[in-house]
Amino acid sequence: RKPVLEIEHLSVAYDSPRGPVQAVNDVSLAIYEEEIVGLVGESGSGKSTMAYAIMRLLKGVAYVTGGSIKINGKDVYGLSKQELRAFRWAEMAMVFQSAMSALNPVMTVEQQIADTIRSHQKNASSAEIRKRAEELLDLVRIDRKHLKSYPHQLSGGMKQRVVIAIAICLKPSLVIMDEPTTALDVVVQRSILDQIQEIQREVKFAILFISHDFSLVSELASRVAIMYAGRVVELAGSRRLRVAGEHHPYTEGLLRAIPRLTADDVVIEGIPGNPPNLVELPSGCAFHPRCAHATERCAVEEPRLQKTGQAEIACHLFQGREVPQHV
Ligand code: SF4
Ligand code: MG
Repeated sequence: RKPVLEIEHLSVAYDSPRGPVQAVNDVSLAIYEEEIVGLVGESGSGKSTMAYAIMRLLKGVAYVTGGSIKINGKDVYGLSKQELRAFRWAEMAMVFQSAMSALNPVMTVEQQIADTIRSHQKNASSAEIRKRAEELLDLVRIDRKHLKSYPHQLSGGMKQRVVIAIAICLKPSLVIMDEPTTALDVVVQRSILDQIQEIQREVKFAILFISHDFSLVSELASRVAIMYAGRVVELAGSRRLRVAGEHHPYTEGLLRAIPRLTADDVVIEGIPGNPPNLVELPSGCAFHPRCAHATERCAVEEPRLQKTGQAEIACHLFQGREVPQHV
């Protein structure tokens, strides 16, 4: 399979009053045609920054400091402004966390779909656009009568499905979804995830699915990258990741943080300590203040992401070992 997205050694910094802060630090990641890859981490781990960097939507104080991003072999940062405008939505699209902010409150669903199509296909006729808009609503299982609806006339779940319809209306090969269901209740969330899977099987595009919810991502994605303090600390198949053992200690913590059903109760265990402060990142392995396995070496030497059996893990415990012994 061909890679749709190729990120190599990407670094992104923010200017802060105390100097530049590294929000994304030397991240490499590839996504292949029709693949769903998950990106998981706590808030501040750099996952949304990654999404904005890929879309070339970083603004103001955030900027790429190194590395490259290619989509369908094209360097996203090598495109002219005009090329970028043609590229966005047609080759890469993004579904933002909040449907509220993505939809225009004074335009109908049809007008918003038409807008996106016309921005790329100036000569599209009204009949063509109507047909495409109807197909899209069918695809996201919304009654066609809602083409004439305004966002406030739709439920939260319907709004998010409209946002997905708009994202795929120009048939992009990569869709980035940044916490697309976080604002919705659990039942609606479930049905949207099922729909994303159905639509993806039908229309065939690759997805980078970003969430803080590891269990949700691992059900949807074939591979998952775990981010901590701007770095990918583990990259593995989601089936492997769902099974405890032989993981980065942070991943083990995430696995334990999944609610588990016992005889008559739901047990939720967390990870001790707080997410790292990027302005004052711990030395060595950024996870060391929270890690039960930390040694002196961990406080001074930063571990690199390395192939370990079927996964890639950035942790000193795993270096030079095919089958890690610590669990
Ligand atoms: Fe823990 Fe050390 Fe591994 Fe970091 S490198 S996760 S501190 S054992
Ligand atoms: Mg975020």
